[in-house]
Amino acid sequence: MAPLELTLIVAATRQMGIGLNGTMPWTGLRKEMAYFRRVTTRTHASSGSPLNAVIMGRKTWDSIPSQFRPLKDRLNIVITRSAPAQPPRDVLATEPVRVSTLDQALAYARGHDIARVFVIGGAQIYDMAAQKAKRVLLTRIERDFECDTFFPIKLEGTQSAGWAKKSRDDLRAWTGEDVEEDGQVENDTKYHFEMWERE
Ligand code: NDP
Repeated sequence: MAPLELTLIVAATRQMGIGLNGTMPWTGLRKEMAYFRRVTTRTHASSGSPLNAVIMGRKTWDSIPSQFRPLKDRLNIVITRSAPAQPPRDVLATEPVRVSTLDQALAYARGHDIARVFVIGGAQIYDMAAQKAKRVLLTRIERDFECDTFFPIKLEGTQSAGWAKKSRDDLRAWTGEDVEEDGQVENDTKYHFEMWERE
C-alpha cells in the first residue's frame, strides 16, 4: 500500500492572507469553493478507496456554517486540544473525528481506507503540517483583502525551502481539473489555481 501523501489546499491573497476575524476575508467566490469541493472530494480509480479525508483546525471547523459541516463525502478530522483520549471507531455522519495531533489524524486516515489526505487550514494547522506536506494547491487571489491570518509556508522567494510550481498539465493530471490559463474573475476578484510540490 502506497504511503499517504499530504496535500495542503488554501486560497490566499498576494500577501498570503487567508483569514479575518475567524472567517474568510472574501465572500462570493462560489466557483472557487466549488473547485475546493470537487478537488477534495474526487477520488481516483487507481487508489481503490472510496473517500478522501480533510484535516482542519478547530477554528476552521467552527468557521464552517453548521448546515455545511461535516463537509460531505469526505472524512472530516478536526485537530483540537480537547479531543477525547480515543477517537471513535465508527465515523458519525453528523460529527467530525476529533484528535489532538496531526500524527493521530494521519493514523486515523490510514486505518479507514482513505484515498487522499488534504489539510484544509487554518494557519496553525498548515504550520503543523508544513514539514510533512508533499504538495500545496494554492488559489492565488489577485486582489487585496484585509487579513489577520496568513499562510505560514513560503513557497517562493529567498526563504522558500525547495518548493516548485508545477505546470497546468500537472495540475490537471493530479486534480482532474482543467483550469483556465489566465485565471478567472468572479465577483470583481481575479484568481488562479496553482499546484506546488516539493522539489
Ligand atoms: P485553525 O483553524 O488552524 O485552528 C486552530 C485550533 O487548532 C486551535 O485553537 C486548537 O484547537 C487546534 N490546535 C492548534 N495547534 C494545536 C496543537 N499543537 N495541538 C492540538 N490542537 C491544536 O485556526 P487559525 O486561526 O490558524 O485559522 C483560522 C482562520 O483561517 C479563519 O479565519 C479561517 O476562515 C481561515 N481559513 C482560511 C482558509 C483559506 O483557504 N483561505 C482555509 C482555512 C481556514 P482548540 O482551541 O480547540 O484546542
